[in-house]
Amino acid sequence: MKTMACKQLGGACDKIFQSNTFDEMAQLSKQHGMKMFEQKNELANYILKL
Ligand SMILES: [Zn+2]
Repeated sequence: MKTMACKQLGGACDKIFQSNTFDEMAQLSKQHGMKMFEQKNELANYILKL
């Protein structure tokens, strides 16, 4: 089992990813990055509506 932090994978937070393969690790990181991106967009939309 490999363990890597979001930061080590080029991300902005300290979330820890665990996986057996590097490919899986990359997928987890990618999915997490997309989720963070969506949350940021939602926040931006919310602020624009205020
Ligand atoms: Zn992150």
